[in-house]
Amino acid sequence: MNPVRSLSVRNRDMQKRYQSNGQAGIKHKQKESANTFFLPKTSNGVRPPICHVCGGSDSDFFTEKNGCMLYKCQGCGLMFVDPLPVSTEELYSQDYFSGAVAGFGYVNYDEDKEPMVPAFLKYLGLISSELGGSKGRLLDVGAATGFFVRLAKTAGFDALGIEISDHAAALGRGKGLPIQTGTLADVEGSFDCITMLDLIEHVPNPRAEITCAAARLRKHGVLVINTPDSGSMFARMMGKRWHLICPPEHLYYFNRHNIKQLLEEAGFTVVLETTIGKSFTVKYIFKTLHRWTSLAPFGRLADLFGRKSLSHVSVPVNLRDNMFVLARRR
Ligand SMILES: [Zn+2]
Repeated sequence: MNPVRSLSVRNRDMQKRYQSNGQAGIKHKQKESANTFFLPKTSNGVRPPICHVCGGSDSDFFTEKNGCMLYKCQGCGLMFVDPLPVSTEELYSQDYFSGAVAGFGYVNYDEDKEPMVPAFLKYLGLISSELGGSKGRLLDVGAATGFFVRLAKTAGFDALGIEISDHAAALGRGKGLPIQTGTLADVEGSFDCITMLDLIEHVPNPRAEITCAAARLRKHGVLVINTPDSGSMFARMMGKRWHLICPPEHLYYFNRHNIKQLLEEAGFTVVLETTIGKSFTVKYIFKTLHRWTSLAPFGRLADLFGRKSLSHVSVPVNLRDNMFVLARRR
């Protein structure tokens, strides 16, 4: 984030870049893999993109959204954005965590996360029992303002967080939490547990992220991933209208098989896959419905429930379309 640029200029750029009427304003990466040269072309002369998990070249066009093209691998079922945006850094600016500009991000990150405390405590209980009852060093990747780090510290973990948004990381540090600005590759040291909660679907290179986690974990250390499950019944039923299809925020959509394949190839053994229901604030639910349907009444309801007196109202939601995966480094 460039501190010289004013907030209003950034807002305008964001709106321009992520407007939903086509590709205008979005820059994309050129293909990096030399292997693409040898791939067969489709009838219109365009080579299909390579699957990030199985390397297959038989991906089908799935849908276009927010100016991004989504493909689905016929081999392993991975859904992915191609080409990737040049940079996702600007998306995770101040606006993402406190403004929900152009339909992205959180209205207020900490308030939106508050109802998730019971689910997060369940995660910590599962991690602790996998570590044989001990707590140890925990690194939360994509820690935002340190919401999960704070809970982990309270539960007895020696926890710290890494966060790409300097704005969010600085808010966490302001609350006395050990949140470093950067990515997993910038972190030194060895950990007993690494958590990636609602993170892996956002990163440009999930394989590199998981490989990096393996290098930062001690032998038999635990990696926890929470991510949308594109193989879930709800996701399959909704198809292109699944509310978690929201590029350029979400770039990859895994299922239980291909996330397992990626983890095993990076040196992990999956020991638990499950679904853990979360609660959400009502304003967050209406904001998601507004983004999903573009219907104005949902926007007005989101504003109503965003008022101070109603902003903490929350309800449990379990569409069973998120997976919680716990893996152990071999
Ligand atoms: Zn594949």
